[in-house]
Amino acid sequence: MSSSSAPRFGHQFCRFCGGPTEALNSTGTHLHCTDCGRDLYVNSKPCAETVIIRDGRVLLLRRTIEPYNGYWDIPGGYLEEDELPEAGAIREAYEEANLDIELKGLIGITLDDYPGQEKLTVLTVSYLAAPLGEPRSGDETGEVRYFAEDEIPENLAFGHARETIREAFALLRRLDGSTG
Ligand SMILES: [Zn+2]
Repeated sequence: MSSSSAPRFGHQFCRFCGGPTEALNSTGTHLHCTDCGRDLYVNSKPCAETVIIRDGRVLLLRRTIEPYNGYWDIPGGYLEEDELPEAGAIREAYEEANLDIELKGLIGITLDDYPGQEKLTVLTVSYLAAPLGEPRSGDETGEVRYFAEDEIPENLAFGHARETIREAFALLRRLDGSTG
């Protein structure tokens, strides 16, 4: 079988036997090992994040690492292998903003390109949350700051962020409306 493209970067060799792979689709994500014959797949990586809103303002963190160094970011990150999204979202908020949170609901799930030499697609589960305390900077974050809904900065990290923040405010209004 002839390959229609090159294997995705980082996947040129079989993870079982080390043999060379060939791509079976145009994006190089469906692979076939030419030595052991196994089919191999490149999948998205799961992440979880929390849009934390207090008094009509959303918490954003200034990134101090690549990609998007210096951009404002929603607290979140990659899930551990044995971790469900809710637990990962709570852990990341604590690691990145030293903040305990209460999850309020699921905003949605998005796909994004993660820029870098190894092309990655991240699948992000986004929650609405309320803060239980005051945020402080963590290891991978500089400034932490609350922004009003009409003051969201232009330089937001990751393509999905602006729409997810918009949907978070909409979800919060629905939740407030149903309880109040
Ligand atoms: Zn193989």
